[in-house]
Amino acid sequence: MSRLILVPTPIGNLQDMTFRAVEALKMADLILAEDTRTSGKLLKHFEIETPSTSFHAHNEHQKVVHFANEIEGGVTIALISDAGTPGISDPGFLLVRECVNRKIKIEALPGPTAFVPALVVSGLPCDKFYFEGFLPHKKGRHSRMDFLSRLPCTSVLYESPHRIVKTLNQLQEYFGTDHEACVARELTKLHEEVMNGTLAELKAHFELNPPKGEFVLVLAAR
Ligand code: SAM
Repeated sequence: MSRLILVPTPIGNLQDMTFRAVEALKMADLILAEDTRTSGKLLKHFEIETPSTSFHAHNEHQKVVHFANEIEGGVTIALISDAGTPGISDPGFLLVRECVNRKIKIEALPGPTAFVPALVVSGLPCDKFYFEGFLPHKKGRHSRMDFLSRLPCTSVLYESPHRIVKTLNQLQEYFGTDHEACVARELTKLHEEVMNGTLAELKAHFELNPPKGEFVLVLAAR
């Protein structure tokens, strides 16, 4: 039976690809990839010859109906993003919602995502947590920080190397300089690094050591 399969892909270490993910990508009729060149390397490595086409933030809205029609017409589609789980700070939600509305079968494979290892390695309570993803760059940024500072649980944010110092700095206004946090950088990669400290300590660290790579920021509840 045709369906949509959501396939997580490694966030840095190819060995995190699951057997089931490889099998799903091989058996699908079509792979929707955020960037076909980026995913091309992964597909080549695992000898996956399924045709792929692009599905990214800029064409997601236009293409959702087309791909849902394709699945209803008998095509099994696998959706991947550049890294991690589709739909988690990546395209996917709109297509999933369309499939849910049309009662199209969807399979979501478990697999790599950056926020789970960051949360569980942080040493901060992980029984309850809030996933923020990326903060807005401009409008609404401060109100999101204010919101996070009022939560009764740990929060998890995605951040880029260009903004991590600015974010740590601004968060101090809402959480306080001595607030406990953790920065997980380059998870699963050669230069993986997990740092625990106060917001002030973490900010000072990255002012001295220019931030490189990909970052997850975990904040204790206030
Ligand atoms: N779909 C992905 C997932 O499931 O985690 C997230 C994609 S989002 C566009 C990319 C962001 O995820 C990065 O800016 C960073 O905040 C986080 N990220 C991805 N890979 C990471 C890694 N290896 N180490 C730390 N953070 C990572």
